[in-house]
Amino acid sequence: LTSSQTSPGLHVVHIAAEMAPVAKVGGLGDVVAGLGKALQKKGHLVEIVIPKYDCMQYDFVRDLRALDVVLESYFDGRLFKSKVWVGTVEGLPVYFIEPLHPDRFFWRGQFYGERDDFKRFSFFSRAALELLLQSGKKPDIIHCHDWQTAFVAPLYWDLYAPKGLNSARICFTCHNFEYQGTAPASELGSCGLDVNQLNRPDRMQDNSSHDRINAVKGAVVFSNIVTTVSPTYAQEVRTAEGGHGLHSTLNFHSKKFIGILNGIDADAWNPATDVHLKVQYNANDLQGKAENKEDIRRNLGLSSADVRRPLVGCITRLVPQKGVHLIRHAIYRTLELGGQFVLLGSSPVHHIQREFEGIANHFENHDHIRLILKYDDSLSHSIFAASDMFIIPSIFEPCGLTQMIAMRYGSIPIVRKTGGLNDSVFDVDDDTIPVQFRNGYSFLSADERGVNGALERAFDLYTRKPDSWQQLVEKVMNMDFSWDSSASQYEELYSKSVARARAAARTQ
Ligand code: ADP
Repeated sequence: LTSSQTSPGLHVVHIAAEMAPVAKVGGLGDVVAGLGKALQKKGHLVEIVIPKYDCMQYDFVRDLRALDVVLESYFDGRLFKSKVWVGTVEGLPVYFIEPLHPDRFFWRGQFYGERDDFKRFSFFSRAALELLLQSGKKPDIIHCHDWQTAFVAPLYWDLYAPKGLNSARICFTCHNFEYQGTAPASELGSCGLDVNQLNRPDRMQDNSSHDRINAVKGAVVFSNIVTTVSPTYAQEVRTAEGGHGLHSTLNFHSKKFIGILNGIDADAWNPATDVHLKVQYNANDLQGKAENKEDIRRNLGLSSADVRRPLVGCITRLVPQKGVHLIRHAIYRTLELGGQFVLLGSSPVHHIQREFEGIANHFENHDHIRLILKYDDSLSHSIFAASDMFIIPSIFEPCGLTQMIAMRYGSIPIVRKTGGLNDSVFDVDDDTIPVQFRNGYSFLSADERGVNGALERAFDLYTRKPDSWQQLVEKVMNMDFSWDSSASQYEELYSKSVARARAAARTQ
């Protein structure tokens, strides 16, 4: 296969189900690319392994080519071949694994949501490790993400370290504990893991069902470093209310568990250079922002009669976690308050998609409300740029990226105080927070009153004190939410873990 170049820094391999912009469903894709790029900038050798999906955005891959070897990896009692492709995405070397399995695991026209997801991704996790072994790579860190590649942790220690792929420490990041990858225990055997050894309460057994195993729990138990995507969420998931059944496991392993706030990709999300925008702009020249607002109103058929009418944006997966009933309420309340509302979202949940289609149709030709129910990256940039306010009323939110992107584009976030939203948005009226950090509006109670209170305070400042509002816009645009500081925290965790392993090896 290909050999790794030598580098003075660490050699980090991310094994993941998503990477932006080629294969992105949500924040996970952004994190793999953003953290990868930031670590590469700091001098580390970063490589990514993802599945080769038929539905990827191939335009974003440079120099894609198939390697002239065929990978063979174990599954269901025999060896299956995979083709391995390599290319460059955003300057990062990426390996794409294409299983030649008769079930055509990644030829489904969608990333997730297939009835055999557990099989598809346990196959991929094993094939990715096989790739590292057969190519003779000696990574310092193997970083896996979410349940889809959580299998990497037990596979590494039980099967691959004994085979000689033993240079690495395993880091696991859980981007959302709602999704844990549980299945009947017997299904774990397909990828070669020993069900009898692992279906135990202190290993991979699901905490609420003794005949099921839990991939995320397995990664928590078997990884050297376990992170999640914000400090507040790390606290929340250690409680019975917020832990989705894993709080006791996380408390037991608390020494290796930490929350690190995600950053955003400051190059991809930069209003001064963003090619998706009608006009580029920056904090010192907000005229361009007004022109983007005018442009989107024209394109979406909203009224432009009143330049000052505030525009509220919302870009989200429409799932219960995001507070869909509060989003719906915010649309109606915005209208009552004299604003405009643009929602860009889509839902994997049938009844939610149908409900929002109903609302979209109701407002089809309305002057002030528009719902666009699809995934559209380019349009998302235009909405961030055009909106004055951005609403995120999540019930829980591991980190959330849209509040940070919104601020970079001068749209003031209105958020529920939970998870990463609590670590990045500080209420302008909260006297307990130093003034320089205050950057938006937040509310605690997950109900209509909570939304109303924050929305009304935002409208009040916007309409009654335009100068203060403009100062706030300039201030949030200048805040730093780039990956720099978060990547440094990962760098430190990696380095400490590697140093500990080396010290232990020396004393053996
Ligand atoms: P999650 O990972 O839970 O979906 P995040 O806030 O962490 O939420 O990340 C969501 C990312 O996906 C953001 O970059 C956001 O702009 C993007 N996004 C969500 N829905 C859409 C959509 N319908 N069209 C375009 N981009 C979207």
